[in-house]
Amino acid sequence: MCCSCRERAPRNDLLRFVRDPQGQAWLDPYLKAPGRGAHLCFKYDCIERAVKKRSLSVSFKEATSLPELNGLLQAIVEAQLNKISNLIGLARRRAELVSGLNMLEQARDELSLLVLSSDIAESSKEKLMNGFQKKNSLSVVQAPFLDERSMIWVNSDKNLISWLDSLVEKWSGEALGLLIGKVHRVAIGLKNEPLSQQLKQEILKISQVLVASSSR
Ligand SMILES: [Zn+2]
Repeated sequence: MCCSCRERAPRNDLLRFVRDPQGQAWLDPYLKAPGRGAHLCFKYDCIERAVKKRSLSVSFKEATSLPELNGLLQAIVEAQLNKISNLIGLARRRAELVSGLNMLEQARDELSLLVLSSDIAESSKEKLMNGFQKKNSLSVVQAPFLDERSMIWVNSDKNLISWLDSLVEKWSGEALGLLIGKVHRVAIGLKNEPLSQQLKQEILKISQVLVASSSR
């Protein structure tokens, strides 16, 4: 159950926190830390409220503080990005991953998800997208996976600008290539539908965490 909104959700759809003896709560992104845990939704509003009102104290039955909001949001997004790169690595090991513009075009009908690097050229993007437009079930996401609304929010906060820059760099064509053991990749495609769905869910959580429900 989320400590902020009291809604119930499957374990994997909630953020888990553990508490140290000093009363500080820490994010447990892989749900592996021992001891009692307290949970929050992957939602900006729930996280913000929990930081302000120390909502985790109720679950831990002791005064418990969360890290300051911006740092916490960054930690959550970084953890999500790790999960995303792990899932991409899994797809690669299962040979369900396609990369390179020509290979992607050839495999067009088998792909369920297309991940674009942060620095893909508009012309390459257009070329890829035009070829794919007939296939409705294909999802397309562009690194670093922040939607327009979260980009605006991140950009309005000076402390977060350099962090955003590092995220954009982390998902450049060069970084995307390294991630899959290649030189430079502007896009990668996934063939496995369930794995694509899982990856999409993890990506969606990033936007949810960075966008408040009320307009800012
Ligand atoms: Zn909640």
